Amino acid sequence: MELRKDPITRSWVMTGDDPAESSPRPESACRFCPDSRDGTQVIAALPSASGWSARSMVHPTPLYHIEGEPDRRGDGIYDRMSSVGAHEVLVENPRHDRQLWDASDDEIGQFLRLAAERILDLKRDPRIKYVSLYKDYGPNAGQEFSHPTSQLTATLFVPRRVLYELRAGREYFQAKERCVFCDILAQEERQASRVIEARGDYVALGPYAPRVPYETWIIPRNHEASFERTGLSKPGLRTNLAALLRRTLQRIRTVTESYHLVLHTSPNSLHPSKTLGYWKTIDDDYHWHIEIMPVLAAKARSYTFKEVYYSPVSSETAVKQLREAKIDG
Ligand SMILES: [Zn+2]
Ligand SMILES: [Zn+2]
Ligand SMILES: [Zn+2]
Repeated sequence: MELRKDPITRSWVMTGDDPAESSPRPESACRFCPDSRDGTQVIAALPSASGWSARSMVHPTPLYHIEGEPDRRGDGIYDRMSSVGAHEVLVENPRHDRQLWDASDDEIGQFLRLAAERILDLKRDPRIKYVSLYKDYGPNAGQEFSHPTSQLTATLFVPRRVLYELRAGREYFQAKERCVFCDILAQEERQASRVIEARGDYVALGPYAPRVPYETWIIPRNHEASFERTGLSKPGLRTNLAALLRRTLQRIRTVTESYHLVLHTSPNSLHPSKTLGYWKTIDDDYHWHIEIMPVLAAKARSYTFKEVYYSPVSSETAVKQLREAKIDG
């Protein structure tokens, strides 16, 4: 497998003929339970009275490898490089049956702390430009493991969606000297029609122009470009974020079992990019957030229509329904 860059959209794609795709792996016992015999190498763990509360492990079939040279080179008008980077599984909870929506706020807080620590650690490698944290849950979202897990990839490029956000944030800041995310949040809190819930310093809202029905963002009220800086330092903030994340996922689960979740945080500023220029102003014009994209099988049309997103439930309607959803507490 290698990375190739689309010269028009400038997005990197991983491509090649993967033998693992044609021969499905046999279903084995869970690799991520504490007593597993075929677990992969543990990279970091947060201790608890009974052993560990959250831990990070090498992905059993990693997309990116730490060893080797990026071997970045041209191919006529094209660009390619080998898949150097890191790919980890973050085990959210030692218990196989405790997903983020029924874990305690303390447990979710530990997972968030581990995520922040891993992102900080991976960003110490100056080759790494971006660290992505994501979770695919449910039969229609490409869930990989049944154990409660998220995944982390560290890459030598910034993913396309984040790059769009960085460029747009910088342009907005150049024009107005304000952060576009702070401005969005201020207007949403004023209008209140798309705010699902606020919890301490965090707000869950439906975006004005959702890409899919029930799309939800979680944004901190205080301006901060990087999740890993807030995530670590203030336990109180972590508890609020944990509670809001849990309650938001409970709400979304009243609509669908499947969703994608992704954390958007600042790129690695240890790796200044001369061509992109974003790293000089990043602390002013970027603002970390979490995006949750529910997957509705019945509304699958919205995914077949990629050039223009088609989302047949407005955020105002979706937010009203999610706000009133019966959740556990
Ligand atoms: Zn398990
Ligand atoms: Zn901001
Ligand atoms: Zn984003």
